[in-house]
Amino acid sequence: MPPRTAVFFHAHPDDEALLTAGTMAMLAAEGHRVVLVVATAGERGLADMEPGEELGRTRLEELYESAALLGCARVECLGYGDSGLSPVGGVADERPDNAFIDADTEEAAGMLAAILREERADLLSIYDPAGGYGHPDHVQVHRVGRRAAELAGTEIVLEATVNRDPLVKLLRMAGKVYRFPPEFDVRTFESAYSSSETITHRVNVRKYTRQKRAAMSAHASQASGGDSDRTLAVMLKVPGPLYRLVFGTEWFVRRGLPPGTRLRHPLDPSPK
Ligand SMILES: [Zn+2]
Repeated sequence: MPPRTAVFFHAHPDDEALLTAGTMAMLAAEGHRVVLVVATAGERGLADMEPGEELGRTRLEELYESAALLGCARVECLGYGDSGLSPVGGVADERPDNAFIDADTEEAAGMLAAILREERADLLSIYDPAGGYGHPDHVQVHRVGRRAAELAGTEIVLEATVNRDPLVKLLRMAGKVYRFPPEFDVRTFESAYSSSETITHRVNVRKYTRQKRAAMSAHASQASGGDSDRTLAVMLKVPGPLYRLVFGTEWFVRRGLPPGTRLRHPLDPSPK
């Protein structure tokens, strides 16, 4: 396969580590150019540090470290404000003026499209329409990403997701022998992400789970202390063998393929 360029668009630093790190590391190892773009610096993420500019700077530094571990050739931040999450979930009332959720879709898509054109990207990775577990910034990544691919004429658009069916089953089984932290609620996975039959790409990334775990660890501000529901902190507590099972596959939906399509490589069917 000739070298291609893949752009991974994420909402916040650490999303790349959780959702697409294995695929990014695999593509880079195969000689493709991998570019990481985040919409925000994640300055309102849950951390020991107060939300704000300093946290944003720390999180971007963590992002560069994670990107280097995964073999990314370029990292960009669109510079929008982290919209944050309301304590009960959903859109927070108080948010910065330039919150990503309030961004003009055309304007944001234009910025991303400029990168896609400059890179002559063959592939853009975004999120499913529900934004995975529903963070408003993640829903916005879907909207902005779709439009950017249209503007730039990017051939392959993949929606990074999680196959919730085996995950829920596995987590239920694991819950019998392994005590999850109390804030970890398996039920939140039952309506999130995508069901098995809608998934077109199952990428085996077991060879890259070490890199993926290292990328997660690079986001130290998101994985330490506190009592809030932190996906990353919870994920890093998952023991090694279970980690490879849970994180050894990454899932994507490519729209417009015939029903029942099951592919293994993100660049299949290959771009023209
Ligand atoms: Zn996020």
